[in-house]
Amino acid sequence: MIPRIPYDTWMATRLGLKELDRKALEEYQLERLNRTLVRARSLSPFYRRHLAGLALFPLRDLGDVALLPFTTPADVREQGLAMLCVDQGEISRVVTLATSGTTGEPKQLQFTGDDQDLTLGIFQSSMEQVARPGEACLVLLPCATPGGVGDLLRTAIARMGAQPVAYGLIENLRETALRMAEEPSCTLVGIPIQVLALARYCRAHDLRVNVRSALLCTDYVSEAVARALGDIWHCPVFEYYGMTEACYAGGMECAAHNGCHMHETDLLVEIVDPASGQVVPDGTEGEVVITSLLRRGMPLIRYRTGDISRVIPEPCPCVSVLRRLEKVRRRRHCALYLGDRELPLAMADLDEALIPLPWLGNFRAWLAQGGSRPVLGLEIRYFGDKDAEAMRQEVFLALSSLPPLREVLQDKGLEVATKFVAMGDTILPTAAKRKIEQFP
Ligand SMILES: [Zn+2]
Repeated sequence: MIPRIPYDTWMATRLGLKELDRKALEEYQLERLNRTLVRARSLSPFYRRHLAGLALFPLRDLGDVALLPFTTPADVREQGLAMLCVDQGEISRVVTLATSGTTGEPKQLQFTGDDQDLTLGIFQSSMEQVARPGEACLVLLPCATPGGVGDLLRTAIARMGAQPVAYGLIENLRETALRMAEEPSCTLVGIPIQVLALARYCRAHDLRVNVRSALLCTDYVSEAVARALGDIWHCPVFEYYGMTEACYAGGMECAAHNGCHMHETDLLVEIVDPASGQVVPDGTEGEVVITSLLRRGMPLIRYRTGDISRVIPEPCPCVSVLRRLEKVRRRRHCALYLGDRELPLAMADLDEALIPLPWLGNFRAWLAQGGSRPVLGLEIRYFGDKDAEAMRQEVFLALSSLPPLREVLQDKGLEVATKFVAMGDTILPTAAKRKIEQFP
């Protein structure tokens, strides 16, 4: 029997219910949505203009949300301050996100103390699934900024009774492993590619650590990374899907490990056709659009996240009524091109293909149009003393298993250039969301 996720119970309590049911949840969402619209229209200059033509107010049905206009990353970038529904003095945290857009202007997200408290509650219920009271829990994310993600996690872990270790990003694998080895058992929260390198480092150097469970976040959590950690540490691996725009809310996997149950009291989630903007039925892939239902500082109404996913329509074995979002494998506006032709390949595909290679510690990838033919470049950090030619062949074989690459590799329409670097004690900094770089 698969246990219910603690977030279910937490939300049921907030709604005054013994058990969460879909009808009560949707009534709550509609009521909160209407309240959000009233606040946004009366307090934010941006939303006053943006929602001016809204005739059907208050909305009678949740589906009517589709009548509202979208909010975009460009709106946040250019009109962020005008989106605020509180005085600047009430803002307790500003997060600046570099964007990949053409303007290069960063996005600024602003949160009040109440918004951060809400996130603390979400983090606390998430950590109840991963950590146990009294046990050490390493936070392998940036922890130095007060009110930042690592700092909020530290507080949430302490609130649920476990012992937080605000460690920070991994820089030296040996030091991190030795810190973990001080604990009889521990859990950890970290970035998938960093935690993979740590686990393989422990195995390569025969360092005994007892990791009881792991929560991975910020980047794509491949099935391959979960399997690799399970093989080395014999621990369950949970995925957390969080969006900075939503003050790190999003969703989390239950013990069935098939999609993230979304934080639906906090977020209204829609999936839309990226081209037409029309809402698509559950089960169909599209762009994730979120509306925050409880945020005070800077509510987001039908915000286009750029993440591509789908709602898994089948009920979950854990019996939660919270809808599940499939893993986000790719994002809009991150297409790669071979000449004029789009190459449907994402970093997530490379993760699934390459991480099963047991000697791989880390890698980065790029696509260059090159001279006579395009080149897929890979710089791979490896453990052990395997011969470079043997590794090259294994990489080529793994890449050939990917449908988007199979044909172009066979036709020699794409060259693969590999560089192998032995993995030492240190790891290079990694982007929060890794992607295949594209060069002319
Ligand atoms: Zn479930």
